Amino acid sequence: MSRRRPSVDELVAGVLAGDRTALGRAITLVESTRGDDQDSARELLSRLLPATGGALRVGITGVPGVGKSTFIEALGQRLTANRTRLAVLAVDPSSTLSGGSILGDKTRMQELARDPLAFVRPSPSRGSLGGVARRTREVILLCEAAGYEVVFVETVGVGQSETMVAGMVDFFLVLMLPGAGDELQGIKRGILELADMVAINKADGDNVQAAQRAKVEYGRALRLMPRKSEHWSVPVMSCSALSGDGLNELWAEVLRYRELMVAAGEWQTNRAEQRVAAMWRAIEWGVMGVFRGDPGVQGRAGELEDAVREGRVAPDHAAMELLAVFRSGE
Ligand code: GDP
Repeated sequence: MSRRRPSVDELVAGVLAGDRTALGRAITLVESTRGDDQDSARELLSRLLPATGGALRVGITGVPGVGKSTFIEALGQRLTANRTRLAVLAVDPSSTLSGGSILGDKTRMQELARDPLAFVRPSPSRGSLGGVARRTREVILLCEAAGYEVVFVETVGVGQSETMVAGMVDFFLVLMLPGAGDELQGIKRGILELADMVAINKADGDNVQAAQRAKVEYGRALRLMPRKSEHWSVPVMSCSALSGDGLNELWAEVLRYRELMVAAGEWQTNRAEQRVAAMWRAIEWGVMGVFRGDPGVQGRAGELEDAVREGRVAPDHAAMELLAVFRSGE
């Protein structure tokens, strides 16, 4: 592919042929915030849509240091050794909050990054979390059109990023540390509600016993929660990303989940509901864009913000007034 900007036709052909350079450029286009790029990105995505949907989409989360990149590298190499084409994406909330990065550093997953059957893409470094999530959904579709059979979406447990990633994948894997089962509460509970599997990583060396205890604790906690599906009870497994122990068993469970869910029809309905939710999120974005760009709203918003800031006007009241300005088109 030449160095000049490729046309949408060239990108469609390149992505469908599985060309990595074309895929990289298609992703750059989708991540661009320029208006004309967004038009091209929409055209690109709609033309590629018939070739999408074929991958097993797996979200992977866990606190920094739990071993996500080690795990993805180890499991990923097993998959590519079996001739499975794997894409690895990331949603990094820190890049949108501080401009820094928890996940994005370039030394991660070096082996996989060199593997011809793997495609590793860091989190987009700009934009709101909502924007990053939306683009990640589109990047999943591009990877599918390029023939990737498994897509990992990695994220870290900060704010809303986990919920967003859970809403764009088929299977959500939560990695936990051994010995952390005892203070199981608060934030972890929220994460467990999203999980299709919990895996205690670092179950090796001195940690084996602690991992076993954590397994029991998490299993107990999960049994107290409402089930996401009548066809699946969330397993708690243990593994070592470092030694590779447990990874084959873990992946076999993921594949068993897919088989069960497809047979039950839930796989398809889950995807369908995710698409509808994505439509409404896109509408919310679009409507907000129109609203904020409205001259009447722009003319009045500053004053009302001041009034709300100073406590002179109630937030709800100000919101109603701005909506009325918008509706009247003044
Ligand atoms: P991330 O921040 O979640 O991506 O975690 P990393 O993959 O960077 O791992 C953090 C540290 O834990 C590194 O020093 C890894 O070598 C180590 N680590 C990762 N997986 C394992 C494991 O299964 N066992 C042990 N003992 N250490 C691990």
